[in-house]
Parts: sequence; structure tokens; C-alpha cells
Amino acid sequence: MIYDALIVGAGPAGLTAATYLGRFRRKVLVLDGGQPRADWIPESHNTPGFPEGVGGPELLARMRAQAGRYGAAFQVARAQSLSPRGDAFELGLSGERSEPVQGRTVLLATGVVDIKPDLPGIDAAIRRALVRICPICDAFEAIGQAIAVLGDGALGAREAMFLRSYSDRVTLLHLGAADALDLPALRAAGVAVMPVSLTDVALGERVTVATGERDTAFDCLYLALGCEMQSRLAVRWDAEHDEDGNLIVDAHQRTSIDGLYAAGDVVKGLNQIAIATAEAAIAATDIHRRLREADPPPRP
Ligand SMILES: Cc1cc2nc3c(=O)[nH]c(=O)nc-3n(C[C@H](O)[C@H](O)[C@H](O)COP(=O)(O)OP(=O)(O)OC[C@H]3O[C@@H](n4cnc5c(N)ncnc54)[C@H](O)[C@@H]3O)c2cc1C
Repeated sequence: MIYDALIVGAGPAGLTAATYLGRFRRKVLVLDGGQPRADWIPESHNTPGFPEGVGGPELLARMRAQAGRYGAAFQVARAQSLSPRGDAFELGLSGERSEPVQGRTVLLATGVVDIKPDLPGIDAAIRRALVRICPICDAFEAIGQAIAVLGDGALGAREAMFLRSYSDRVTLLHLGAADALDLPALRAAGVAVMPVSLTDVALGERVTVATGERDTAFDCLYLALGCEMQSRLAVRWDAEHDEDGNLIVDAHQRTSIDGLYAAGDVVKGLNQIAIATAEAAIAATDIHRRLREADPPPRP
């Protein structure tokens, strides 16, 4: 069977595209490679339509149910290769018994993974929002708190300065040589700088940093260590991308490879749920237009 669209990734972008394409009456297979980044969200307060906030797992469950309602098929597998197959694409899948799957179009919604420091209890601390990853998402919930930012370069400095408009107690915990930082700019912004090594940092009720004689405690810790691509399927095929592997797309979410689309965090731009879902809607609509021109669907 050749699907109208293969969607790689079952996060907000992939699931939104599956709903749209299902409602366009397209045959869609969603390849679910496991834990989406959205699954880590303890509670999101900037996702449209949830004034009381929504947890990542609940949001994903709702989106998955919505896509399923319109006929999207799901398969738990990771796509390991992407190649042309006549007018279509073929994805090779992980797992001994996984046969390759084919689709007339492919949407990559493969997201990114955050780089986490090797700190005991880090995963549980992210789930209870003691450790945070995205100041754009949840700095509002840290207003007035003692905030630490763990970084090793320019990103840490930028996030610390961003957080200053939420609290007058922001400290950059800097890993590595501090001479890489613009200390006068940080001082002018009112950000304290504390050189640390990871062994100084402990996650308990609060975040504590052992500095000299005494511990310094913080209410939350933002990680500013960057992120990596989850999958380099399109990059391996030399689709246009930036130096970090983020895909570059046109206004219809088309990559530089004909018939290959991308949406969500894997695309260069702001990594947010609202963006992922918007890009997925645009991609799905263009995929439908493309297929409709080649092969009109049956009329009711
Ligand atoms: C702690 C935390 C809090 C956040 N809070 C917010 C918030 O409040 N508001 C907000 O807007 N954003 C928030 N974000 C960001 C948000 O989670 C992401 O922007 C969003 O999840 C991006 O959706 P996506 O579908 O592009 O990627 P993801 O959600 O990461 O989903 C990607 C999917 O692709 C799959 N995949 C990858 N490679 C393959 C492959 N080769 N084969 C098959 N499947 C594959 C993965 O397994 C995964 O299922 C937060 C992120 C974190 C970590």
C-alpha cells in the first residue's frame, strides 16, 4: 500500500497534520518514534485554548484521539532511512520485523531533544518544573523567584537576560571559562554570574549550589545547554538546513526536496506548540493541494 502521506513523529506537529490530512480524506500513517518533547511538559500555560493550563501528556492524548477519529493509522517505529521510490518515498523502519513503508509525500515532524546535564534526579526535576527548559514557555510562572540558569556559552547569557524582566534575582551558573562571557553586559543587566562545575549543583526541594563556605539555593533552574536534532533523515539527503541541522522550508513548509515537508521543532524557527501546530496545518493543506492536482479524490 502507498499512503498519501507518511508523517514521521507523533508530537504536536505530526498529530495536527494527521488530523488535517484525515479530514481531507487522505490515507495517512503516523510513525511514532516514542517520547515527544511535548511529553515532558508539566503544565503549559501558553497553549491556546487552555486558560487553566494543560499537561503535555494530556494534550498529546487529546491530539492523538482527534487524529484517530479521522482515520489516521499509527505505527510504533522509528524511520531510519528515507529514499525515493518511483514517484513516491520509502521509509526504512527500525526493528527486525518492520517492513519499509511508502508514501506519495512525507512530512517530517521529528522535533529536537534537549541537552540535559548529568545531574542525579534531572528527569524527575523537569517533570515537577524545578528544572525548566523554555523561558518563553514558563518564565511567567517564575515571577519574583530566585532563578538560576545553567549555561556554557552565549545562550545561557541570553536566557539569563531574558529572565531579568521576571525577577531581580537571576544568576547565571556558568560551566567553563567565564572569559567567554560578556561580563559587563551581564552586570549592566543585573545578572549575577557564578562559575560552577556540575558537581556543585544538587536537585532537592530546591536547587542548591555549593559555593565556598555555604550553599546558595534557587527556586528553579533553567537549562540553557541547547538541543540536538532527533533525526537527520532529510539532512542526510542534503535537504537545505542550517549549521545545526534545522530544516529550512518555504512558506508552504516544503523542504528543498520535492514532496518532502517539515513542521515543528525540526524546522528552523521558534520551538513552540503553537508554531508546530500552525506549520503542520500549512504543510497538510499544501500536501492535500499537491495530491488533489495529481489525482482528485472521489466526490461524495
Ligand atoms: C519541559 C518543556 C516544557 C515546554 N513547555 C512548553 C510550553 O509551555 N509551551 C509551548 O508552546 N512549548 C513548550 N515546550 C516546547 C514544545 O514541547 C515543543 O515545541 C513541541 O513539542 C514541538 O512539537 P514537535 O511535534 O515538533 O516535536 P516533538 O513534540 O518533540 O515530537 C517529535 C516526535 O518525533 C518522533 N521522532 C523523531 N525522530 C523520529 C524517527 N526517525 N522516526 C519516528 N519518529 C521520530 C519523536 O519520537 C516524537 O514523537 C516545552 C518543552 C519542554 C521540553
